[in-house]
Amino acid sequence: RGLLPGKVAVVTGAASGIGAAVVERFLREGARVIAVDLTDQSPDRPDLLAVRGDVSHAETWRRIADTARAEFGRLDVLHSNASTVVRAPAHELPEDDWDRQLSVNLKATYLAVRACAGLLKESRGAVVLTSSVHALVGLPGHPAYAAAKGGLVSLGRQLAVEYGPEVRVNTVIPGPILTPVWDGIGEEDRRRSVAATAAGRFGRPEEVAAAVTFLACAESSYVTGASLLVDGGWTAV
Ligand code: NAD
Repeated sequence: RGLLPGKVAVVTGAASGIGAAVVERFLREGARVIAVDLTDQSPDRPDLLAVRGDVSHAETWRRIADTARAEFGRLDVLHSNASTVVRAPAHELPEDDWDRQLSVNLKATYLAVRACAGLLKESRGAVVLTSSVHALVGLPGHPAYAAAKGGLVSLGRQLAVEYGPEVRVNTVIPGPILTPVWDGIGEEDRRRSVAATAAGRFGRPEEVAAAVTFLACAESSYVTGASLLVDGGWTAV
């Protein structure tokens, strides 16, 4: 039943946008999901468990791994997706904001793997990271975000080699996807972003969730250490 029958998955940044779409899709594909976010979520179904926490804290990951072990006895999929962004050129970006973005957007994946590698190896699982086109293209006002997202692509490759035969590790690289992160962004910037894609439109969170699902399930059994662009052709234009 579905592409992830009986699998147990952790999804971070699960309360909004791409993470929420991944949770929904994973559940439809037969997975049981541990949904992690800073904000409160109130799941009303037995196959969905919410954990409230900050992914940049090691303690959160201890709780997540304990929950997976205690509630389900296994962990098959880790989708490290939560992120935060502060827009400012490097010379105006406060040091705390630099540190915070590197912690949430990059270090969290190290903490996740440190806590969950044992479980993932036992189940011969899959890890999917969410990077961004900012990893590949310089865009003004995102120094820490871009550094962290570029770091994730390298980290994904590194982890794929590290855990080779047992755990597959891949990265999705989304382009402009219509989620609440675009709420505060002006019409002109939105128009320019859409015009920068070959597709000529924003992507939908569900379209990224489809790529994440492919990388999480057995359909991608020989794909590891890869980065999959889901950017509407942004980087091709
Ligand atoms: P979103 O803001 O809709 O959702 C992000 C979620 O992460 C929020 O629910 C937020 O509460 C949570 N979060 C933030 N910091 C957290 C923390 N420290 N611990 C736990 N949860 C935390 O964002 P989105 O657009 O769905 O983005 C999801 C991922 O996709 C991010 O990694 C983002 O960088 C990436 N991405 C998005 C776009 C886009 O255009 N939307 C483009 C490229 C990459």
